[in-house]
Amino acid sequence: MSIYQDLGVEPIINAAGNATVLGGSIMDSETLDAMREAAASFVLIDELQAAAGTIIAELTGAEAGLVTAGAAAGLMMATASCVTGSDPVRIDRLPDCSSMPNEVVVPKGHRIGYDHAVRAIGVTLIEAGMPHETLPHEIEGSLSDRSAAVLYVASRATSCLSLADVVSVSHAHSVPVIVDAAAELPPVENLRAFTASGADLVVFSGGKAIRGPQSSGILCGTRQLIEGAALNQLDMHVDLRTWTPPPGLIDRSGLIGRPDHGIGRALKVGKEEIVGAVVALQRYVNRDHLADQRRWSEQTRIIVDGLSSVQSLTVTFLESDQEKAYPRCEIAMPSSNRGELTYRFIEQLQSEHPRIFVRETHPADGRIEIHPVCLAAGEEHTIVERIRAIATAEAGH
Ligand SMILES: *Cc1c(COP(=O)(O)O)cnc(C)c1O
Repeated sequence: MSIYQDLGVEPIINAAGNATVLGGSIMDSETLDAMREAAASFVLIDELQAAAGTIIAELTGAEAGLVTAGAAAGLMMATASCVTGSDPVRIDRLPDCSSMPNEVVVPKGHRIGYDHAVRAIGVTLIEAGMPHETLPHEIEGSLSDRSAAVLYVASRATSCLSLADVVSVSHAHSVPVIVDAAAELPPVENLRAFTASGADLVVFSGGKAIRGPQSSGILCGTRQLIEGAALNQLDMHVDLRTWTPPPGLIDRSGLIGRPDHGIGRALKVGKEEIVGAVVALQRYVNRDHLADQRRWSEQTRIIVDGLSSVQSLTVTFLESDQEKAYPRCEIAMPSSNRGELTYRFIEQLQSEHPRIFVRETHPADGRIEIHPVCLAAGEEHTIVERIRAIATAEAGH
């Protein structure tokens, strides 16, 4: 960890799961080796993106794919493509999309902070339904000839509004569906599930469970919409007479011209990240997922057992469920003054060394979670010791 020492930055124990603020994920050494190799040669980025797209298509079941600068960047490129298609004039106009289909319909309960990436294209979000529930006819009633896309946030799925329902009403009006599936892995089956349900574009974070570069994302979708996304993202420092983009990514013959640098040029992806993202994706698909689950279970079990004798805390082993497809540990504070106590707990975990960051699920309600997916071997014991020590000190107050 000497580079962090050199910089005077102290690494942390990540008991919160993959999160951008905590450093995303840890790449395998094979992924890092591939990035180092990629760094040693010049390549045409569009050719590299086309090759990456072929791999993404194979592994997701979509027609095509593109590496983006994160899932949020993927949402931007997906939205841009739905607004402009492959029309160079429209691509050049963004984020002024006043002369184009410029509305994105979203179930009201699917509004999240990351939809800033969608709005950044210049579109207006049209909220359908109510905060707690949206029904398919409410999506349908919000569609019009101004609709560029429908946004569906997979983590907000409810039984009353399945992706299949949304796809069905949207496609009936020829409007594409974008799925934010940034953190929907595991299970690995989700790499294909949203595309299989008919989504036109799906984004995954490369810096979460896939364990790719923190600033990478995977966008997959129809050939036509991925072409639009690529045209909005790729550097266009090319001469129209000599430009020969790879036909697998961009069908040159179908273009009326070449756009200038698009809105996605600010979200550029380097050759190292493109290689890192696809190598990590391949490695993720081929991982022993059962072994991962077993390891996470064992670490979680050690934490739950290690804290079971702490009288003041209610510690529960949470099985893999709707919320998260992996086991984790919930810690509930005693009922009196629990919000205050929880924040004191979190503060102490984050300030003593090594600093520990837990998932702050419902702090005001006195509940936090320990997620095992980013724990190194042995860190579960450190967590037990520290929480026991803090609980003992608190009990003495
Ligand atoms: C993490 C996340 C994102 C952003 O992913 P990045 O790869 O960090 O850009 C977007 N949407 C949701 C729902 C997420 O959980």
